[in-house]
Parts: sequence; structure tokens; C-alpha cells
Amino acid sequence: MQYHDSTSYEHYDRALESLVGGVNSPVRAAPQPTPTFVDHGEGAEIIDTDGNRYTDYVMGYGPLLLGHDLPDSVRETVSRAVDDGPMYGVPTDVEVELAEFVIDHVESVERLRFVNSGTEATAAAARLARGYTGRDKIVVMQGGYHGGHESFLVDGDVDDRKPGSAGVPDAFAAETIPVPFNNEDAIRDVFDRHGSDIAAVLTEPLLGNCGIVLPIEGYHETLRELCDEHGSLLIFDEVITGFRIGGLECAQGKYGIEPDLTTFAKVIGGGFPVGAVGGRAEIMQKLTPTGEVFESGTFNGHPVTMAAGLETLRFAKANNVYAHVDDLGERLRSGLQDIVEDHAPEYTVAGTGSMFKLLFTREAPETMDGHCRAGCKQRPDCPRYDLCPKTGADVRAGETDRWKRIFWPAMADRGVLLPPNQFESQFVSYAHIEDDIDQTLEVYQEVLTKRNR
Ligand SMILES: *Cc1c(COP(=O)(O)O)cnc(C)c1O
Repeated sequence: MQYHDSTSYEHYDRALESLVGGVNSPVRAAPQPTPTFVDHGEGAEIIDTDGNRYTDYVMGYGPLLLGHDLPDSVRETVSRAVDDGPMYGVPTDVEVELAEFVIDHVESVERLRFVNSGTEATAAAARLARGYTGRDKIVVMQGGYHGGHESFLVDGDVDDRKPGSAGVPDAFAAETIPVPFNNEDAIRDVFDRHGSDIAAVLTEPLLGNCGIVLPIEGYHETLRELCDEHGSLLIFDEVITGFRIGGLECAQGKYGIEPDLTTFAKVIGGGFPVGAVGGRAEIMQKLTPTGEVFESGTFNGHPVTMAAGLETLRFAKANNVYAHVDDLGERLRSGLQDIVEDHAPEYTVAGTGSMFKLLFTREAPETMDGHCRAGCKQRPDCPRYDLCPKTGADVRAGETDRWKRIFWPAMADRGVLLPPNQFESQFVSYAHIEDDIDQTLEVYQEVLTKRNR
């Protein structure tokens, strides 16, 4: 099919006249020659406006733990919430129940505030950390992502930082210090120089928006120690990993670290817009109305979202959803590992649980003997250890153009829908089954075998 015969082309052509760049979030415009317009979702699949079916690993960029079909229990609860009237601006029990569910399962969380996106959650966490400590500087990881607001749209390093977007004042870059992930010397140096001004260190437990980069052994412990030593807060941004990695305990349970504050979003809204910040009561009480740090929102704790999130998490708990998605993730990563060993030994299989990504790194190890089997685990005795990405910069140094321009379209042509660049994570959902994984592996094999060398 010629692309200009595709109805997506017509839809996009029309969208360009009313939406900026034809989309409402820039990554959606990335696919070439035009984005695929969705007609509907079914289980693990997206069906486009031409009726083409794709096995979907975008999964809404993370929220759709259960896939595209809501289980009956979720659908019924959501419908009831809609029938009751969509929202009130007056408290409801369902907000309390979702908060209790999170508090029951995530060790570090004693109080919560629900907001409407991951961006709002990290904005609230930043203000809270600053208000609580009376300090302004926040340390973040290069290649980390915390949403589209001023405090975290900052690039560079401790000695040379600048706004990461036009429109962000230099003043924000003065207060945000990016460091390389997994680099203990760099974070120690920042604390040596700025320790008494640092309100918080904010990190994703694993980099989930810049390839997938897992923490090296001991890195989180170092962050925890440095924060304790200097009176700074440790904030885990679990917007992607929350209620996905590490099951109901989240990534902080998997890694055995207690942050002071945690941000959530994506999965906890069951496919509806959501965010939350949670943590120790003593810190959380500083938010209004009990404290002086302002936070508020018309749609905060939206009853339809709360119902969808709560029923999704209850369903996940009752149906061993995490065992299912984690097993399929493992099957995918180990299958990918076998394929790259034969066809592209320089590439790195990354991910954990239901997250996976093939990173087009450039150098092959001399031997594969004894390497990590189902994706890089940052094991120091693996022959790939020095070649596997440890930082965002390592991921950016890969063949990102080949990924985007050659690999992505070849996968899409064969019915496998991935995010359109090497940076965004891919997700297995509860709706995927082993056959989907095996077919997807065949497609990877075909595409990686055909590539030009
Ligand atoms: C997606 C994401 C955000 C931003 O969340 P939005 O709901 O898109 O505003 C923040 N942090 C992380 C780690 C994310 O993955």
C-alpha cells in the first residue's frame, strides 16, 4: 500500500489544520511518513483507520497494564461512576479507597495527594520538597524524564546547565542539577559542593524514558545515604514503574529502597488521566490544607479515574497479572537475546518485568559466555558489562537514526507497533499471550536479519 492511499494520511492532513503539528503530544507526530490513526483497540492490538492490525507495545506509553479491553469489573465500576455524575468537587469514598490501596502495598507511603498527570505529580513533589526543607536545588538524572514543567526541563551538568526548552527561564536551570545516572562519583561531588542547598534527589528507579537503564548494584543505596547525610529528600519518580515493576510493591519494593516521596501516575489511573504524590505523613502534611505548601486541583481525585484505577489494581492483585506480564517480558527478552547473539551481537537487550527495549548499541563483546540471559541486569561479571548503557548519554550514543528510520517502519509494516524512537519504553500487557510474543520475536528476527551491514 502506498502511504498516500492510507486513510491515516487523510486524517493527519486534516489534523494539521487544527492541532499544532497535528497532535496533542509531540512524540505522536514522530512516525514517518505520518502517524497511524487509531480506530480502536482490542486486547493486545490496535486497529488503525485502514483496518490494519498491530500487536501493540506502546500501550498508551505505560498506563495500559491490562491492555485495551477493560475487564468487566473495571468497566462496570467506571460506568457506575459516570452514571452517578462525572465529578463533584466534594469528597468521595473512592478517593480514600484508592489511597488506602496504595498505602497498604507501598511501604514508604503513608499519605497521598491525587492530581491529574505525572507532570503535576512531580511539580507538586518538587514544591513540597523545597517547602519542607527550605532549600531550592534539586538533583536529577541526565536522560531522566519527569514531565513537561519548568523545574525538570533542564539539560547539562553541574558546571554548565541550561533550560531544556525555549520558554524556561535560566533561573530554573540554576536550581536543577543534572548528573549522570549510575555514577557515584558524580553525585558525591554534587553533594560535596552543594549539599546544604539540596532539597531533594529525584530519580526514576530505572531510566524508563531513555532506553531502559537499570541501576547498578548499590546506586540507590548511595543516593539514600547521601540524602540522609545531608538532610535532603529522596524522591522516586515511579510514574512508569509504579504498579508495573515489582508488582504491587512497585520498583522501590523490588530494589528494597524507601524513598521519602514517590510520584505515581500512568497505571494507577486505569487508562484515565491521573497522578499522585505520596510519602511519609510528616512530609506530606506540609501540603495545603494542613501545611503551607500550596497544591490544589479541580479534577484532583476524579471519581471516574479513581474508580478505574482502584478496580484495575484490584483486578491485577486478584488475577496474578504481574506474574503473567513479567513472564511474557522474560520470554521476549530471552528470545531477543538469542536473536541478537546471532544477528546483531553489538545490540543490547534491556528491560525488566513487563518493560523491554532493544537498544542499538554499537560494540559487541569478545565473548558472550556467561552474559545476562534475558536482558542486561548490570551484572559486573557479564562480558557485556562495560558495553551496556549505564547512563542516558550511553543510550543516545547508539544508532538512534537506524532505530527510528529503518527498524521502526520495518516492524510496523509487519504488524508490530513500537514507540517511534529508541528512547521510549515498550510494554507487555495482561492481554498479550505467548503466541503474540513468539510472533513478535519472529518479526524481530526477520527485520534484524535483513538489515544492511
Ligand atoms: C510519563 C512520565 C512522566 C509524566 O507523566 P504525564 O502523565 O505524561 O505528565 C513523569 N515521569 C515519568 C517517569 C514518566 O514516565
